[in-house]
Order: sequence, then structure tokens, then C-alpha cells
Amino acid sequence: IIPVITIDGPTASGKGTVAHRVADQLGFHYLDSGALYRLTALSALRRGTDLADEHALAKLAEHLQCSFQGGDIILSHENVTEAIRAEAVGNAASKIATFHAVRHALLGLQLGFRKAPGLVADGRDMGSVIFPHAALKVFLTASVAARAERRYKQLIAKGISANMDDLLKDLQARDERDTNRAVAPLVPPQGALVLDTSEINAEQAVAQVLAWYAA
Ligand code: C5P
Repeated sequence: IIPVITIDGPTASGKGTVAHRVADQLGFHYLDSGALYRLTALSALRRGTDLADEHALAKLAEHLQCSFQGGDIILSHENVTEAIRAEAVGNAASKIATFHAVRHALLGLQLGFRKAPGLVADGRDMGSVIFPHAALKVFLTASVAARAERRYKQLIAKGISANMDDLLKDLQARDERDTNRAVAPLVPPQGALVLDTSEINAEQAVAQVLAWYAA
């Protein structure tokens, strides 16, 4: 049986970094499920698809021509690694992620990432919906203030100007939407171990996840 480690949590909790490093350490595959919602959103924005048209969005998701090559994300032969990280794409992704048909359309694609010797899956519903029988389920969280500060530093490091109040508001709005949606709301899945990263760095978080997995 191929082991799966799920790492779920809110925006900017550091789960991307932690999940990626855990996968590297174990030599496991890595699934960035948020990227699939972002790819669907980018496709929709480019085609001018109505972001309220559940059926059309699900069709797009179902026929997504994407591949993950090393650190690069390819959509229909185009490298969209940077493009899918835009705020507008993230916001559209969180809107279309509220549709059951969209989530269902991305199910098979996500299950396909489970390959030997193992998988680390990062997202919102990895432990609750996609891989409910995972060997280890982690729920990574951090205070809104800690997450806003991380996002702020990331933006500044990229030379992008940022406003702390706007970042805080944006994070709260996204938390609100992801937590209170009817479909696959963001809550710690049954059996998950909760890791609060407000006071620890990525290295310590990775060490904790690896220790839990080894136990
Ligand atoms: O993690 P990331 O910010 O890239 O995800 C973008 C959006 O996709 C999230 O705000 C969330 O609404 C949605 N998402 C989801 N389920 C997942 C991963 C992401 O609903 N497993």
C-alpha cells in the first residue's frame, strides 16, 4: 500500500513549504492541490468563462491539460508557474472551489498523484475528502498575524509593495470563505494532528511532521 501524508491548512500557514520539504526528505511525490484550482481559475479567466457557471467550470477542470515538471507548472504547453500565483487567480480559485462539480472534476487527477514510494498532498481537503485513509494527517495552522507577516515578507522579498492592513483583511476574508463554505469546508480532518507554526520556523515544522510520520 502506497503511503500518503496529508497537510491541510489555511492560506499562508506555510503548508506549501513544509509539504514540499517533507516530500523531498522522504523521496515522495508532492501534490499541490491548490495549483489545480488555480489552473482551472486561470483557464476560466483567460477564456472569459462566467465564474458562476458551475457546469462550464467543471468542464474546464475535467479537461485541464496540465503537468508538473520539477518546480514548473505547465498548462497546455505554456509555463504558468508564476501566472497562477497572481492574487486575482487565487481569488478566482477560492470562488470556483465552492462548486461541488468543480471539486468532483478534479478528484481523479488528484488521486493519480498517489504513486510509489509515497505522496505528500497539500491543500484544504486532502485528509478529509481526497485521502481519508492517509497514514498521517497534519493540520497546519498559524495566527492570522503570523500568516500576514509571512505573506508581507514574501512580497517585499519579491520587490512587490504590500500593505499589512490589506493583507490582514484579505487573509481574514479568504479564511472566512474557505471555512464557512458548504462544500468541503476547511476544518481539521478526523484524526489530524494539529501543528501551530506561529512560533516555529519551517525547519522545525518539517522536523515535527517527519517525527510524527516515523512514530
Ligand atoms: O492553496 P492555494 O492558495 O494555492 O489554493 C487556492 C484556493 O483553492 C484556496 O483559497 C481554496 O479556496 C482552494 N482550494 C481548495 N481545496 C484544496 C486546495 C485549494 O478548495 N484542496
